[in-house]
Amino acid sequence: MKLKASSMKSENGDKTKDKIGKTKIVVLGTGFAGSAFMEAFNRKMPVKNRDDVELIAVNHTNYLTFSPLLYEVATGQVYEHHISIPVCCNITDHGFRFLEEEIIEVNPWRNVVETRHGSIKYDHLVIALGTENNDFGIEGVAEHTMPLKTIKDGELIRNRILKSFRDAVSEEYMNGSVDGKLTFVIIGGGASGVELAASMKEYVDDLQLDYRADALAPRVVLIEAQDHLMKGTGGDFSNRLENFLKESGIELLLNAKVAKVTGDEILLQGGTAIRTSNVFWTAGVKSNPVAAMLGGSQVNKKSGRIIVDRFLRVPGFENITVIGDNALIASTGQGEFVPQTAAAAVQEGKYAGKKLAAMIREREDTDPFSYKDPGIMLSLGKFKGLCKLRSGIILSGFSAWLAWRLIHLIKISTFRNKVEVLSDWVFSTFQRRDVIGSQ
Ligand SMILES: Cc1cc2nc3c(=O)[nH]c(=O)nc-3n(C[C@H](O)[C@H](O)[C@H](O)COP(=O)(O)OP(=O)(O)OC[C@H]3O[C@@H](n4cnc5c(N)ncnc54)[C@H](O)[C@@H]3O)c2cc1C
Repeated sequence: MKLKASSMKSENGDKTKDKIGKTKIVVLGTGFAGSAFMEAFNRKMPVKNRDDVELIAVNHTNYLTFSPLLYEVATGQVYEHHISIPVCCNITDHGFRFLEEEIIEVNPWRNVVETRHGSIKYDHLVIALGTENNDFGIEGVAEHTMPLKTIKDGELIRNRILKSFRDAVSEEYMNGSVDGKLTFVIIGGGASGVELAASMKEYVDDLQLDYRADALAPRVVLIEAQDHLMKGTGGDFSNRLENFLKESGIELLLNAKVAKVTGDEILLQGGTAIRTSNVFWTAGVKSNPVAAMLGGSQVNKKSGRIIVDRFLRVPGFENITVIGDNALIASTGQGEFVPQTAAAAVQEGKYAGKKLAAMIREREDTDPFSYKDPGIMLSLGKFKGLCKLRSGIILSGFSAWLAWRLIHLIKISTFRNKVEVLSDWVFSTFQRRDVIGSQ
């Protein structure tokens, strides 16, 4: 498909309209930030009042991955389709045209986006392309570890756990030994790694019972390079989290830096080796290469995130707004940055949608973006959780688990996905998790 470039060439920051007098807004990425942008834009400037604006949203999938529940896909609690939120119908409801395309380049000097099948001109561009996995250049990570970033990743991890169990049961029966086959190692003790480890421990315990495999002794190991898990959350929270995981039977390796991963072993700096071929990587992300391509002083060299001003615009290219994980936004004057979370992405998307709609209507809306920290919530297995509220109060146990479930159910935007996830939770909590997987 070759898209006809309909906009006239425009200068940066210039609201030049296209040949038929429309201002063209192009949104790249319809994840948390892009979807929140479109919803807020539509609310501020409803479809019936905007004949003079053309809206296009581009994404290479037609669904949003509800990432907070990915670890539950990986551990047989929810099904992958149930956390894939369709975006195409929502987007057209908001009056945007949806193009399922892969973006390969942004040219801010010519106001053009290049996709696999053609180019799209814009007057205003919104970049919300999210992140990719970062292997930090460690040998063997890309080849021998399994990331948890996409729906497919969740499905692959679940299948790997189930296959490892099936293979180990046969091998133990035939040869009497399983040699690391049931050692499951998660590298990266951030929120995703911690939730994955807690849920994986319960999953393998259930499988051990199902297979009557008492002799197999599966292990779940969580490796973290720093001296504490989720260090930024404060000492009390980290300590409680670490104690909780240890009491659940998870082996915690702190201050442990991975030097190399091979097909059957992890080598730590200092020489320790762990025999396993089940290695899961949740240690970090880097900015999307398309966003990072903007280059020059606009991009932070270390993170690849685009540096934006307090109105989320790129200095020097004021017709480009960056939101979500791609944006590097100073949250305070003390060198702290808005975190790369879905909660922050939604706040940024809402702010930018309202702001751009006001700007197009030449109503100046001058309040800069301000981030509100919603606190931290972790689900740590059946009826167990740990939360730190905005006020600093820490909740643990059943109340934290319930709060986590309710908040996430509310955040899922479609009724159908809510019902599907709720029914998966009921079955996986009170009956059993998936023990078959997709073969
Ligand atoms: C396992 C996991 C668990 C998480 N849990 C939480 C949590 O509990 N709470 C929380 O607040 N945050 C959580 N996060 C972080 C959260 O997912 C991100 O911060 C959030 O998704 C960022 O939103 P975004 O809109 O910037 O990017 P995304 O939501 O990733 O959206 C980016 C979109 O761009 C599309 N895209 C990318 N490249 C291209 C391209 N070249 N062409 C076309 N389309 C493209 C993608 O398909 C995607 O739809 C988690 C992340 C992971 C990986």
